Amino acid sequence: MGYHEEYYVRTNRHKELYTMVSKLADSFKSRSEQYDREGSFPYQNIEELKKSGYTRLSVPKELGGEGISLYELVLLQERLAQGDASTALSIGWHLGIVMDTAEKRLWDNKVFERIAHDIVQNGALLNSAVSEAATGSPTRGGRPQTLAVKEGNEWVLNGRKTFTTMAPVLDYFIVVAAVEKNGEIAQFIVPRETKGLEIVETWDTMAMRGTGSHDILLQDVRVPHDALVQVLDQESKKKASGWLLHIPACYMGIALAARNHAVEYANHYKPNSIKGPISDLPNIRQPIGEMELKLMNARTFLYSVAERWDQDVENRYELHAELAAAKHVVTNTAMEIVDKAMRIVGAQSLYHKSPLQRYYRDVRAGLHNPPMDDAVISLLAQRATK
Ligand SMILES: Cc1cc2nc3c(=O)[nH]c(=O)nc-3n(C[C@H](O)[C@H](O)[C@H](O)COP(=O)(O)OP(=O)(O)OC[C@H]3O[C@@H](n4cnc5c(N)ncnc54)[C@H](O)[C@@H]3O)c2cc1C
Repeated sequence: MGYHEEYYVRTNRHKELYTMVSKLADSFKSRSEQYDREGSFPYQNIEELKKSGYTRLSVPKELGGEGISLYELVLLQERLAQGDASTALSIGWHLGIVMDTAEKRLWDNKVFERIAHDIVQNGALLNSAVSEAATGSPTRGGRPQTLAVKEGNEWVLNGRKTFTTMAPVLDYFIVVAAVEKNGEIAQFIVPRETKGLEIVETWDTMAMRGTGSHDILLQDVRVPHDALVQVLDQESKKKASGWLLHIPACYMGIALAARNHAVEYANHYKPNSIKGPISDLPNIRQPIGEMELKLMNARTFLYSVAERWDQDVENRYELHAELAAAKHVVTNTAMEIVDKAMRIVGAQSLYHKSPLQRYYRDVRAGLHNPPMDDAVISLLAQRATK
Protein backbone atom coordinates (compact mmCIF):
# COMPACT_ATOMS: atom_id res chain seq x y z
CA MET A 1 0.00 0.00 0.00
CA GLY A 2 1.41 3.44 -0.94
CA TYR A 3 1.60 6.32 1.53
CA HIS A 4 -1.25 8.21 -0.16
CA GLU A 5 -3.60 5.30 0.48
CA GLU A 6 -2.33 4.53 4.00
CA TYR A 7 -2.81 8.11 5.06
CA TYR A 8 -6.59 7.77 5.33
CA VAL A 9 -6.69 4.20 6.67
CA ARG A 10 -6.90 5.02 10.37
CA THR A 11 -8.71 2.35 12.37
CA ASN A 12 -8.71 -1.44 12.47
CA ARG A 13 -12.11 -1.45 10.79
CA HIS A 14 -10.71 0.75 7.99
CA LYS A 15 -7.83 -1.73 7.61
CA GLU A 16 -10.19 -4.66 7.36
CA LEU A 17 -12.45 -2.97 4.82
CA TYR A 18 -9.49 -1.64 2.89
CA THR A 19 -7.89 -5.07 2.59
CA MET A 20 -11.15 -6.40 1.21
CA VAL A 21 -11.60 -3.59 -1.32
CA SER A 22 -7.95 -3.73 -2.40
CA LYS A 23 -8.33 -7.39 -3.38
CA LEU A 24 -11.40 -6.53 -5.42
CA ALA A 25 -9.73 -3.50 -7.05
CA ASP A 26 -6.65 -5.53 -8.03
CA SER A 27 -8.84 -8.20 -9.58
CA PHE A 28 -10.87 -5.55 -11.49
CA LYS A 29 -7.70 -3.88 -12.75
CA SER A 30 -6.74 -7.00 -14.66
CA ARG A 31 -9.98 -6.80 -16.70
CA SER A 32 -10.42 -3.05 -17.00
CA GLU A 33 -8.72 -2.69 -20.37
CA GLN A 34 -10.90 -5.43 -21.90
CA TYR A 35 -14.23 -4.01 -20.69
CA ASP A 36 -13.21 -0.57 -21.89
CA ARG A 37 -12.09 -1.80 -25.32
CA GLU A 38 -15.26 -3.82 -25.84
CA GLY A 39 -17.55 -1.28 -24.16
CA SER A 40 -18.97 -4.28 -22.34
CA PHE A 41 -20.56 -4.46 -18.92
CA PRO A 42 -18.36 -5.78 -16.06
CA TYR A 43 -20.67 -8.60 -14.94
CA GLN A 44 -17.82 -10.50 -13.29
CA ASN A 45 -16.84 -7.47 -11.19
CA ILE A 46 -20.40 -7.02 -9.99
CA GLU A 47 -20.58 -10.72 -9.05
CA GLU A 48 -17.35 -10.39 -7.06
CA LEU A 49 -18.71 -7.32 -5.27
CA LYS A 50 -21.83 -9.24 -4.30
CA LYS A 51 -19.89 -12.30 -3.10
CA SER A 52 -17.55 -10.21 -0.96
CA GLY A 53 -20.44 -8.48 0.81
CA TYR A 54 -19.44 -5.09 -0.63
CA THR A 55 -22.93 -4.40 -1.99
CA ARG A 56 -24.49 -4.51 1.48
CA LEU A 57 -21.96 -2.30 3.27
CA SER A 58 -24.24 0.75 3.50
CA VAL A 59 -27.29 -1.18 4.74
CA PRO A 60 -27.75 -0.32 8.45
CA LYS A 61 -26.30 -2.84 10.92
CA GLU A 62 -29.70 -3.63 12.43
CA LEU A 63 -30.86 -4.76 8.96
CA GLY A 64 -27.85 -7.00 8.34
CA GLY A 65 -25.40 -4.59 6.71
CA GLU A 66 -22.31 -2.78 7.97
CA GLY A 67 -23.73 0.75 8.26
CA ILE A 68 -20.53 2.29 6.87
CA SER A 69 -19.86 5.99 7.46
CA LEU A 70 -19.48 8.56 4.69
CA TYR A 71 -15.72 8.67 5.34
CA GLU A 72 -15.59 4.91 4.83
CA LEU A 73 -17.67 5.15 1.65
CA VAL A 74 -15.18 7.67 0.24
CA LEU A 75 -12.18 5.58 1.29
CA LEU A 76 -13.54 2.40 -0.28
CA GLN A 77 -14.91 3.93 -3.45
CA GLU A 78 -11.66 5.78 -4.12
CA ARG A 79 -9.72 2.52 -3.82
CA LEU A 80 -12.19 0.58 -5.95
CA ALA A 81 -11.95 3.18 -8.73
CA GLN A 82 -8.20 2.62 -8.90
CA GLY A 83 -9.07 -0.85 -10.17
CA ASP A 84 -11.99 -0.01 -12.43
CA ALA A 85 -13.67 3.40 -12.43
CA SER A 86 -16.82 2.27 -14.27
CA THR A 87 -17.49 -0.44 -11.71
CA ALA A 88 -16.81 1.95 -8.84
CA LEU A 89 -19.15 4.66 -10.13
CA SER A 90 -21.85 2.04 -10.76
CA ILE A 91 -21.77 0.49 -7.33
CA GLY A 92 -21.31 3.94 -5.78
CA TRP A 93 -24.86 4.92 -6.82
CA HIS A 94 -26.25 1.78 -5.17
CA LEU A 95 -24.29 2.16 -1.91
CA GLY A 96 -24.96 5.88 -1.73
CA ILE A 97 -28.71 5.70 -2.36
CA VAL A 98 -29.08 2.99 0.28
CA MET A 99 -27.06 5.08 2.76
CA ASP A 100 -29.12 8.21 2.08
CA THR A 101 -32.47 6.42 2.22
CA ALA A 102 -31.64 4.72 5.52
CA GLU A 103 -30.22 7.84 7.12
CA LYS A 104 -32.99 10.27 6.18
CA ARG A 105 -35.72 7.62 6.52
CA LEU A 106 -37.01 8.65 3.13
CA TRP A 107 -39.27 5.67 2.47
CA ASP A 108 -41.89 3.81 4.44
CA ASN A 109 -40.01 1.58 6.93
CA LYS A 110 -41.62 -1.63 5.71
CA VAL A 111 -40.70 -0.98 2.08
CA PHE A 112 -37.11 -0.10 3.00
CA GLU A 113 -36.77 -3.16 5.21
CA ARG A 114 -38.03 -5.38 2.41
CA ILE A 115 -35.52 -3.97 -0.07
CA ALA A 116 -32.70 -4.01 2.51
CA HIS A 117 -33.44 -7.68 3.14
CA ASP A 118 -33.23 -8.37 -0.59
CA ILE A 119 -29.87 -6.56 -0.74
CA VAL A 120 -28.44 -8.50 2.22
CA GLN A 121 -29.85 -11.93 1.36
CA ASN A 122 -29.84 -11.93 -2.43
CA GLY A 123 -27.38 -9.22 -3.45
CA ALA A 124 -30.14 -7.06 -4.97
CA LEU A 125 -28.95 -3.83 -6.63
CA LEU A 126 -30.72 -0.52 -7.11
CA ASN A 127 -30.15 2.84 -8.78
CA SER A 128 -32.19 5.86 -9.75
CA ALA A 129 -33.44 6.56 -13.26
CA VAL A 130 -33.92 10.31 -13.11
CA SER A 131 -32.34 11.89 -16.20
CA GLU A 132 -34.34 12.34 -19.40
CA ALA A 133 -33.53 13.75 -22.83
CA ALA A 134 -36.01 16.58 -22.30
CA THR A 135 -34.74 17.68 -18.89
CA GLY A 136 -31.00 17.11 -19.32
CA SER A 137 -29.51 16.93 -15.85
CA PRO A 138 -32.38 16.68 -13.33
CA THR A 139 -30.41 18.98 -11.02
CA ARG A 140 -31.40 21.87 -13.31
CA GLY A 141 -35.00 21.57 -12.16
CA GLY A 142 -36.61 20.43 -15.43
CA ARG A 143 -39.93 18.63 -15.15
CA PRO A 144 -39.83 14.89 -15.97
CA GLN A 145 -41.87 13.86 -19.01
CA THR A 146 -42.30 10.39 -17.53
CA LEU A 147 -45.85 10.28 -16.26
CA ALA A 148 -47.47 8.31 -13.40
CA VAL A 149 -51.22 7.81 -13.56
CA LYS A 150 -53.23 6.23 -10.72
CA GLU A 151 -55.55 3.45 -11.85
CA GLY A 152 -57.38 1.77 -8.98
CA ASN A 153 -54.74 0.53 -6.56
CA GLU A 154 -51.93 0.74 -9.10
CA TRP A 155 -49.63 3.30 -10.71
CA VAL A 156 -49.16 3.20 -14.46
CA LEU A 157 -45.87 4.64 -15.67
CA ASN A 158 -44.96 5.77 -19.18
CA GLY A 159 -41.79 7.50 -20.34
CA ARG A 160 -38.14 7.14 -21.24
CA LYS A 161 -35.09 7.62 -19.02
CA THR A 162 -31.50 8.25 -20.09
CA PHE A 163 -28.17 7.44 -18.39
CA THR A 164 -29.43 4.64 -16.11
CA THR A 165 -26.14 3.35 -14.78
CA MET A 166 -25.86 -0.40 -14.12
CA ALA A 167 -29.06 -1.07 -16.09
CA PRO A 168 -27.84 -4.55 -17.15
CA VAL A 169 -27.89 -5.83 -13.54
CA LEU A 170 -30.29 -3.63 -11.58
CA ASP A 171 -32.98 -5.39 -9.56
CA TYR A 172 -34.79 -2.15 -8.74
CA PHE A 173 -35.09 1.00 -10.85
CA ILE A 174 -36.03 4.06 -8.80
CA VAL A 175 -37.93 5.96 -11.46
CA VAL A 176 -38.70 9.65 -11.04
CA ALA A 177 -42.00 10.65 -12.66
CA ALA A 178 -44.57 13.45 -12.62
CA VAL A 179 -47.86 12.43 -11.02
CA GLU A 180 -50.68 13.24 -13.45
CA LYS A 181 -53.36 14.09 -10.92
CA ASN A 182 -51.63 16.59 -8.64
CA GLY A 183 -48.51 17.53 -10.58
CA GLU A 184 -46.16 16.27 -7.85
CA ILE A 185 -42.84 14.73 -8.78
CA ALA A 186 -42.19 11.43 -7.08
CA GLN A 187 -39.96 8.36 -6.93
CA PHE A 188 -41.40 4.94 -7.83
CA ILE A 189 -39.69 1.61 -7.22
CA VAL A 190 -39.93 -0.56 -10.30
CA PRO A 191 -38.62 -4.14 -9.99
CA ARG A 192 -36.63 -5.37 -12.98
CA GLU A 193 -39.05 -8.06 -14.07
CA THR A 194 -42.02 -5.66 -14.29
CA LYS A 195 -43.89 -5.98 -17.59
CA GLY A 196 -43.43 -2.98 -19.89
CA LEU A 197 -39.94 -2.07 -18.63
CA GLU A 198 -37.34 -2.35 -21.36
CA ILE A 199 -33.63 -1.54 -21.45
CA VAL A 200 -32.57 0.18 -24.66
CA GLU A 201 -28.83 -0.23 -25.10
CA THR A 202 -27.77 3.31 -25.95
CA TRP A 203 -24.60 3.56 -23.85
CA ASP A 204 -21.73 3.93 -26.34
CA THR A 205 -19.44 6.67 -25.06
CA MET A 206 -15.75 7.52 -24.89
CA ALA A 207 -15.72 7.58 -21.06
CA MET A 208 -16.95 5.25 -18.34
CA ARG A 209 -17.76 2.73 -21.02
CA GLY A 210 -18.39 -0.09 -18.55
CA THR A 211 -21.18 1.60 -16.60
CA GLY A 212 -24.00 0.28 -18.82
CA SER A 213 -25.78 3.64 -18.43
CA HIS A 214 -28.52 2.78 -20.93
CA ASP A 215 -31.97 4.23 -21.61
CA ILE A 216 -35.01 2.77 -19.87
CA LEU A 217 -38.27 2.61 -21.71
CA LEU A 218 -41.45 2.41 -19.60
CA GLN A 219 -44.58 1.43 -21.50
CA ASP A 220 -47.70 0.96 -19.37
CA VAL A 221 -45.59 -0.26 -16.49
CA ARG A 222 -47.92 -1.20 -13.61
CA VAL A 223 -46.70 -1.10 -10.02
CA PRO A 224 -48.63 -1.28 -6.70
CA HIS A 225 -49.65 1.86 -4.79
CA ASP A 226 -46.78 1.55 -2.29
CA ALA A 227 -44.27 1.71 -5.17
CA LEU A 228 -44.48 5.49 -4.74
CA VAL A 229 -41.80 5.82 -2.09
CA GLN A 230 -41.08 9.52 -1.92
CA VAL A 231 -42.51 12.82 -3.11
CA LEU A 232 -39.70 15.13 -4.21
CA ASP A 233 -40.96 18.45 -2.86
CA GLN A 234 -39.05 21.57 -1.81
CA GLU A 235 -38.75 20.16 1.72
CA SER A 236 -36.93 17.05 0.50
CA LYS A 237 -34.32 19.20 -1.28
CA LYS A 238 -33.44 21.14 1.86
CA LYS A 239 -31.27 18.42 3.33
CA ALA A 240 -27.76 18.13 1.87
CA SER A 241 -26.75 14.80 0.35
CA GLY A 242 -23.46 13.54 1.74
CA TRP A 243 -23.66 10.29 -0.21
CA LEU A 244 -22.94 12.15 -3.46
CA LEU A 245 -19.29 12.25 -2.35
CA HIS A 246 -19.04 8.80 -3.92
CA ILE A 247 -18.68 10.76 -7.18
CA PRO A 248 -15.51 12.75 -6.37
CA ALA A 249 -14.15 9.66 -4.56
CA CYS A 250 -14.37 7.77 -7.85
CA TYR A 251 -12.58 10.46 -9.86
CA MET A 252 -9.90 10.84 -7.17
CA GLY A 253 -9.34 7.09 -7.52
CA ILE A 254 -8.67 7.56 -11.24
CA ALA A 255 -6.18 10.35 -10.43
CA LEU A 256 -4.38 8.15 -7.90
CA ALA A 257 -4.12 5.34 -10.42
CA ALA A 258 -2.71 7.76 -13.01
CA ARG A 259 -0.23 9.19 -10.51
CA ASN A 260 0.95 5.71 -9.47
CA HIS A 261 1.39 4.65 -13.08
CA ALA A 262 3.36 7.78 -14.01
CA VAL A 263 5.67 7.63 -10.96
CA GLU A 264 6.37 3.94 -11.57
CA TYR A 265 7.11 4.66 -15.22
CA ALA A 266 9.40 7.59 -14.38
CA ASN A 267 11.33 5.43 -11.89
CA HIS A 268 11.99 2.74 -14.49
CA TYR A 269 12.30 4.40 -17.89
CA LYS A 270 15.98 4.95 -18.73
CA PRO A 271 16.52 6.46 -22.18
CA ASN A 272 20.19 6.26 -23.23
CA SER A 273 20.60 10.04 -23.31
CA ILE A 274 20.87 10.02 -19.50
CA LYS A 275 22.48 7.78 -16.87
CA GLY A 276 19.54 6.97 -14.61
CA PRO A 277 15.74 6.96 -14.90
CA ILE A 278 13.79 10.02 -16.03
CA SER A 279 12.61 10.54 -12.44
CA ASP A 280 16.08 12.05 -11.81
CA LEU A 281 15.40 14.87 -14.27
CA PRO A 282 14.23 18.29 -13.02
CA ASN A 283 11.62 18.59 -15.81
CA ILE A 284 10.04 15.31 -14.61
CA ARG A 285 10.44 15.97 -10.88
CA GLN A 286 8.53 19.22 -11.28
CA PRO A 287 5.23 17.65 -12.50
CA ILE A 288 5.65 14.75 -10.04
CA GLY A 289 5.87 17.23 -7.17
CA GLU A 290 2.92 19.15 -8.58
CA MET A 291 0.83 15.97 -8.79
CA GLU A 292 1.61 15.24 -5.15
CA LEU A 293 0.60 18.75 -4.13
CA LYS A 294 -2.67 18.54 -6.03
CA LEU A 295 -3.49 15.12 -4.63
CA MET A 296 -2.85 16.21 -1.05
CA ASN A 297 -4.86 19.37 -1.55
CA ALA A 298 -7.93 17.74 -3.09
CA ARG A 299 -7.95 14.69 -0.81
CA THR A 300 -7.61 16.80 2.33
CA PHE A 301 -10.70 18.70 1.24
CA LEU A 302 -12.63 15.55 0.29
CA TYR A 303 -11.91 13.64 3.49
CA SER A 304 -12.39 16.65 5.75
CA VAL A 305 -15.91 17.24 4.39
CA ALA A 306 -16.75 13.53 4.78
CA GLU A 307 -15.41 13.58 8.34
CA ARG A 308 -17.37 16.70 9.18
CA TRP A 309 -20.53 15.04 7.86
CA ASP A 310 -19.95 11.98 10.06
CA GLN A 311 -19.09 13.93 13.19
CA ASP A 312 -21.42 16.92 13.08
CA VAL A 313 -24.61 14.89 12.85
CA GLU A 314 -26.84 17.76 13.99
CA ASN A 315 -25.68 20.17 11.30
CA ARG A 316 -24.73 17.80 8.49
CA TYR A 317 -27.76 18.63 6.36
CA GLU A 318 -26.53 22.23 6.09
CA LEU A 319 -23.34 21.21 4.30
CA HIS A 320 -24.63 21.91 0.76
CA ALA A 321 -21.82 24.32 -0.12
CA GLU A 322 -18.99 22.22 1.36
CA LEU A 323 -20.13 19.04 -0.38
CA ALA A 324 -20.56 20.81 -3.71
CA ALA A 325 -17.20 22.57 -3.42
CA ALA A 326 -15.45 19.28 -2.63
CA LYS A 327 -16.94 17.73 -5.77
CA HIS A 328 -15.83 20.68 -7.91
CA VAL A 329 -12.29 20.79 -6.54
CA VAL A 330 -11.73 17.04 -6.63
CA THR A 331 -13.04 16.33 -10.12
CA ASN A 332 -11.21 19.25 -11.70
CA THR A 333 -8.00 18.46 -9.83
CA ALA A 334 -8.30 14.82 -10.88
CA MET A 335 -8.35 15.91 -14.52
CA GLU A 336 -5.22 18.03 -13.99
CA ILE A 337 -3.42 15.13 -12.31
CA VAL A 338 -4.20 12.73 -15.16
CA ASP A 339 -2.98 15.36 -17.62
CA LYS A 340 0.31 15.72 -15.72
CA ALA A 341 0.71 11.95 -15.51
CA MET A 342 0.42 11.74 -19.31
CA ARG A 343 2.96 14.53 -19.83
CA ILE A 344 5.43 12.67 -17.57
CA VAL A 345 5.07 9.40 -19.48
CA GLY A 346 5.09 11.08 -22.88
CA ALA A 347 3.88 9.46 -26.09
CA GLN A 348 3.67 6.00 -24.52
CA SER A 349 0.58 7.31 -22.73
CA LEU A 350 -1.23 7.52 -26.08
CA TYR A 351 -1.10 3.80 -26.84
CA HIS A 352 -4.29 1.89 -26.23
CA LYS A 353 -2.32 -0.56 -24.10
CA SER A 354 -1.53 2.28 -21.65
CA PRO A 355 -4.14 2.69 -18.87
CA LEU A 356 -3.44 6.43 -18.95
CA GLN A 357 -5.49 7.02 -22.09
CA ARG A 358 -8.44 5.32 -20.37
CA TYR A 359 -7.97 7.42 -17.22
CA TYR A 360 -7.85 10.51 -19.44
CA ARG A 361 -11.21 9.64 -20.99
CA ASP A 362 -12.89 8.35 -17.82
CA VAL A 363 -11.92 11.29 -15.63
CA ARG A 364 -13.77 13.72 -17.91
CA ALA A 365 -17.10 12.13 -17.06
CA GLY A 366 -16.85 13.73 -13.62
CA LEU A 367 -17.76 17.05 -15.20
CA HIS A 368 -21.16 15.68 -16.14
CA ASN A 369 -22.07 14.11 -12.82
CA PRO A 370 -23.85 16.32 -10.29
CA PRO A 371 -23.41 18.97 -9.14
CA MET A 372 -22.08 20.59 -12.33
CA ASP A 373 -19.30 23.20 -12.02
CA ASP A 374 -21.37 26.29 -12.81
CA ALA A 375 -24.04 25.24 -10.32
CA VAL A 376 -21.38 24.87 -7.60
CA ILE A 377 -19.95 28.33 -8.27
CA SER A 378 -23.38 29.88 -8.30
CA LEU A 379 -24.26 28.16 -4.99
CA LEU A 380 -21.09 29.51 -3.38
CA ALA A 381 -21.77 33.02 -4.67
CA GLN A 382 -25.34 32.82 -3.42
CA ARG A 383 -24.19 31.87 0.08
CA ALA A 384 -21.54 34.59 0.13
CA THR A 385 -23.94 37.35 -0.89
CA LYS A 386 -27.07 36.50 1.05
C1 LIG B 1 -21.10 8.33 -16.35
C2 LIG B 1 -22.45 8.89 -16.06
C3 LIG B 1 -23.33 8.18 -15.25
C4 LIG B 1 -24.62 8.68 -15.00
N1 LIG B 1 -25.49 7.94 -14.23
C5 LIG B 1 -26.76 8.38 -14.04
C6 LIG B 1 -27.72 7.59 -13.35
O1 LIG B 1 -27.42 6.50 -12.87
N2 LIG B 1 -28.99 8.04 -13.24
C7 LIG B 1 -29.39 9.24 -13.78
O2 LIG B 1 -30.54 9.61 -13.64
N3 LIG B 1 -28.49 10.01 -14.43
C8 LIG B 1 -27.20 9.62 -14.59
N4 LIG B 1 -26.31 10.40 -15.30
C9 LIG B 1 -26.79 11.62 -15.93
C10 LIG B 1 -26.31 12.91 -15.30
O3 LIG B 1 -26.77 13.04 -13.98
C11 LIG B 1 -26.78 14.07 -16.17
O4 LIG B 1 -28.18 14.06 -16.23
C12 LIG B 1 -26.25 13.97 -17.58
O5 LIG B 1 -24.85 13.79 -17.53
C13 LIG B 1 -26.62 15.18 -18.40
O6 LIG B 1 -25.96 16.29 -17.87
P1 LIG B 1 -25.49 17.47 -18.84
O7 LIG B 1 -25.01 18.57 -17.94
O8 LIG B 1 -24.58 17.00 -19.87
O9 LIG B 1 -26.83 17.79 -19.62
P2 LIG B 1 -27.72 19.05 -19.76
O10 LIG B 1 -28.39 19.34 -18.46
O11 LIG B 1 -28.58 18.80 -20.94
O12 LIG B 1 -26.69 20.21 -20.08
C14 LIG B 1 -26.08 20.40 -21.36
C15 LIG B 1 -25.38 21.74 -21.34
O13 LIG B 1 -26.33 22.78 -21.17
C16 LIG B 1 -26.11 23.50 -19.97
N5 LIG B 1 -27.40 23.66 -19.28
C17 LIG B 1 -28.53 22.93 -19.47
N6 LIG B 1 -29.53 23.38 -18.69
C18 LIG B 1 -29.05 24.41 -18.01
C19 LIG B 1 -29.61 25.31 -17.04
N7 LIG B 1 -30.88 25.21 -16.65
N8 LIG B 1 -28.80 26.26 -16.51
C20 LIG B 1 -27.51 26.37 -16.90
N9 LIG B 1 -26.92 25.55 -17.83
C21 LIG B 1 -27.68 24.59 -18.36
C22 LIG B 1 -25.14 22.61 -19.12
O14 LIG B 1 -24.27 23.38 -18.32
C23 LIG B 1 -24.38 21.89 -20.22
O15 LIG B 1 -23.29 22.69 -20.64
C24 LIG B 1 -25.01 9.92 -15.55
C25 LIG B 1 -24.11 10.65 -16.35
C26 LIG B 1 -22.85 10.15 -16.62
C27 LIG B 1 -21.90 10.94 -17.48
